[in-house]
Amino acid sequence: MAQDFNLDDAIRKVPNYPKEGILFFDITSILTNPEAFRHCIDRMVDIYKDQNIGAVAGIESRGFIFAAPLADRLGIPLILVRKAGKLPGETYRQDYNLEYGAAAVEIHKTDVPAGKDVLLIDDLIATGGTLNAAKSILEQGGATVKKVFGVIGLPFLNYQEKLPGVEVTTLIQYQDEKM
Ligand code: AMP
Repeated sequence: MAQDFNLDDAIRKVPNYPKEGILFFDITSILTNPEAFRHCIDRMVDIYKDQNIGAVAGIESRGFIFAAPLADRLGIPLILVRKAGKLPGETYRQDYNLEYGAAAVEIHKTDVPAGKDVLLIDDLIATGGTLNAAKSILEQGGATVKKVFGVIGLPFLNYQEKLPGVEVTTLIQYQDEKM
């Protein structure tokens, strides 16, 4: 039944944002639609409930929104992957390149469950660069990342190339950036 829900209708598409030629897939229209948000979390629970995941890691900031209810429903720890400079404790850090410029993500060393499988979550997977950087800081702490999840996937941006050997799951895929 949950599979029949039309998630596409619940995603606002904004052309030429944040710059010319980009179609922005806006998940705020999922969050203001309780049926759509519940649909996403229910699907995630169905997919991951029997997969022996040790913890869920959400990527700042929209990844947090989907990671937190999943961690609660599965009864497993929630780890925050933050943009650099925001965590007070000792961290692992990974720098990476964006389409324009550079960025870095950090994680508290004490949050990483060494030897456990961590599921990484973001709202949307485009080039896979952010998830790849997040994966590497979890691995620095001795955790493994075999699965990543995004509500939306843009496979034409070749995210699988940056995530070799990783099982990537998305609830909806778009094949181009046209309206
Ligand atoms: P990437 O590292 O290229 O996979 O980029 C993923 C991050 O950028 C995610 O956290 C997304 O929220 C954001 N992002 C990239 N492209 C888009 C897009 N077309 N629409 C909405 N968000 C995007």
